[in-house]
Amino acid sequence: MASNEEEEVHTFASLGVCEQLAEACDALGWKKPSAIQVQSIPLALEGRDLIGLAQTGSGKTAAFAIPILQALLEKPHPLFACVLSPTRELALQIAEQFEALGSGIGVKCAVVVGGIDMMAQAIALAKRPHVVVLDEADRLLNMDFEQEIDEILKAIPRERKTYLFSATMTNKVAKLQRACLKNPAKVEVSSKYSTVDSLKQQYLFVPAKYKDCYLVYLLNELSGSTTMVFTRTCESTRRLSLILRNLGLDAIPISGQMSQPKRIGALNKFKAGERNILICTDVASRGLDIPSVDMVVNYDIPTNSKDYIHRVGRTARAGRSGLAVSLVTQYDVELYQRIEQLIGKKLPEFPSEQEEVLLLHERVNEAQRIATMKLREKEGNKKHNKKRGDGGDDDDDDDRRFTGSKNNKKLKRSKGR
Ligand code: AMP
Repeated sequence: MASNEEEEVHTFASLGVCEQLAEACDALGWKKPSAIQVQSIPLALEGRDLIGLAQTGSGKTAAFAIPILQALLEKPHPLFACVLSPTRELALQIAEQFEALGSGIGVKCAVVVGGIDMMAQAIALAKRPHVVVLDEADRLLNMDFEQEIDEILKAIPRERKTYLFSATMTNKVAKLQRACLKNPAKVEVSSKYSTVDSLKQQYLFVPAKYKDCYLVYLLNELSGSTTMVFTRTCESTRRLSLILRNLGLDAIPISGQMSQPKRIGALNKFKAGERNILICTDVASRGLDIPSVDMVVNYDIPTNSKDYIHRVGRTARAGRSGLAVSLVTQYDVELYQRIEQLIGKKLPEFPSEQEEVLLLHERVNEAQRIATMKLREKEGNKKHNKKRGDGGDDDDDDDRRFTGSKNNKKLKRSKGR
């Protein structure tokens, strides 16, 4: 599972940065290396090519500038490094950082960008600076510029280090990676993918056949909380909603198969507090204006790890605390580990006693049976209505017949606590 490396305290010196450059960082007021620097600098100093995925503002410029400057110090040489940046502004900013970090060691930089006097730039280049920064790298990644890339690659030495930094791994970046990098080490941090500290994240390891039972147990343990339960399919939202309502829990589904007015109606009931459990898929919940909830349950582990971040971001907003619990079955371990890797944390387990959970088994079983029957009934009605020519819109929050059944007791009481 994920390493705790990011949690260790690092200094620039502990990453292998030489004294002069560590002092330069200190002079810039950088107290400790940023996450992308912690990951990139030691690998770059080892001589590896790098692919770094990190957002602007993460300190990624220094992540590659420091190793370049350190190598330059070891073997001073004009035209030592060439940096390609997508825009003119970024090219200027990158050059500024090289100069700020390298001021104590006399580093000379030249920026060659469009829209600026070419003669002055030619003179700056003729002075044989150590570092040259060019713009419009993104245009170089277009198909039409393949020839130009080839020319650049021909002009630079075969024996070289190549660092490729981007906010996202696009097809174009992947293409460039294949063309220019040798066995690169991949480092990735992104503020976008980190979760807030007020969010408590846990997992619950559950045998697949008792998954519903565990869900009911969890909802009961935190009864009264506003909760969003995420499932993979529209069908699961309806099935779970029927099961939970049968057990006396105030659940309501939102699925892509519902008409827009029905979705809005369901959402309004949730917002108004008439229902405190919203069951949804990633697609159905996207773009919905939902207030912060107390708990997010990942009934199904998202296949796309980034969806995890979106899901849990529904709770612990604006400094409030929140809980996110993921139900992990024996089939989800790999998917779940990918999430831990993405967020860079190993999560604790939600405490539960299987014996206690299984006390619910019989009643959950009965509710499952009734839900299946009800879903079949609806399917039949829909076909019948279609034949008759009326739309037969899927009514996912119809009467509350079930909640009046004998199962309608708060389960907590039935556990004899
Ligand atoms: P960048 O992600 O390269 O655009 O950097 C964003 C800003 O973070 C720049 O203004 C840098 O001066 C600053 N910066 C880079 N590394 C650090 C660090 N270790 N500590 C504090 N600030 C830093």
